[in-house]
Amino acid sequence: MKYVDEFRDRARAESLGRAIAAAADPARQYNFMEFCGGHTHAIFRYGVQDLVPGNVHFVHGPGCPVCILPMRRLDDAIELAEAHGVILCSYGDMLRVPGSGRKSLLKAKADGADVRMVYSTLDALEIARAHPDREVVFLGIGFETTTPPSAVAIATARAEGLRNFSLFCNHVMTPPAIRHILEAPDIDPAQAVRLDGFLGPSHVSSVIGSRPYEFLAERYAKPVVIAGFEPLDVMQATLMLIHQVNEGRVNVENQYARVVTREGNVKAQDLVAQIFEVRDTFEWRGLGSVPESALRIRPEYAAYDAEAKFQLTEKESRENKACECPAILRGVKKPKDCKLFGKACTPESPMGACMVSSEGACAAYWTYRRMETLAEMAADRAAAKVAAA
Ligand code: SF4
Repeated sequence: MKYVDEFRDRARAESLGRAIAAAADPARQYNFMEFCGGHTHAIFRYGVQDLVPGNVHFVHGPGCPVCILPMRRLDDAIELAEAHGVILCSYGDMLRVPGSGRKSLLKAKADGADVRMVYSTLDALEIARAHPDREVVFLGIGFETTTPPSAVAIATARAEGLRNFSLFCNHVMTPPAIRHILEAPDIDPAQAVRLDGFLGPSHVSSVIGSRPYEFLAERYAKPVVIAGFEPLDVMQATLMLIHQVNEGRVNVENQYARVVTREGNVKAQDLVAQIFEVRDTFEWRGLGSVPESALRIRPEYAAYDAEAKFQLTEKESRENKACECPAILRGVKKPKDCKLFGKACTPESPMGACMVSSEGACAAYWTYRRMETLAEMAADRAAAKVAAA
């Protein structure tokens, strides 16, 4: 297949749905975590859940770069824009995420801070070139997919002698987060979901390759199938996972072989390793502190590190207690379990990151399954009332 429409072909999807139904053992449940928000949106956008039997469940993981950024780091970005007077450049999704006191970068901009939406690190570099008298900071977020462009930006700034550009580095890594979910040291075992396997990220894997997931099969006996983002990709990968589970096999398989190799993009990996090093620990919204799960800029590049350049204050950032984003990101709750869904929290007035981001689970439920979710919430409330009476 060569064109994207072919990966969305209805007849092929129905045929794969029949193959999944035939392969899935009705006597058991299958819980597969799709790590990536991109997969979550593909599942909802194309109705994949409705094409597989009811005992095949998709558990939404923490692979949404906007959602997992802890509030404290967002508050730091707002401080950079407000207190340090920098030109703060960010991808659009980040601008509307509420920080402490529901203040967002967009609100900071409305209050007079110089916050600019950019489409790439190249835009931020261009702004730095155009304003040599101003400090320009790029808010770097995301997984292994967005780290190489940040590395290129720093390498370019150094090559050009662009000293007014720096990166506020919040880049995180996928395999340590999956390991953390499986070990779940701070998750109540009663709440933990038994996972039978993972749909591995597609874009991330195009950079890091399939090799970094092999420990999941070896050490944790969990199958992984790296899947593309189209509906037929997700369905074929789901069928591959079901076959592994049924046969008692535990392998890393690659459904997205048209892009992902075992070694990944070695050139990008080398550049990232040249400019970044692994942090001892990093806080993830929903997962808490995850050891060796994020990157920071190496001391040799401190001139381009916003954390080294600007004195950021210690902060006590408080999450909105009613927002269930942390539990949703761990896969232990769904958006319907949040009382605010569709009431106080909508995309127009988001209370949490999962409703803002184009990859967030709450945004997916709102966009593609709003009426069903609100009906399920009403049914749950009615059942709770009956139980309490
Ligand atoms: S619906 Fe809103 S408040 Fe509730 S978990 Fe999702 S983002 Fe948070």
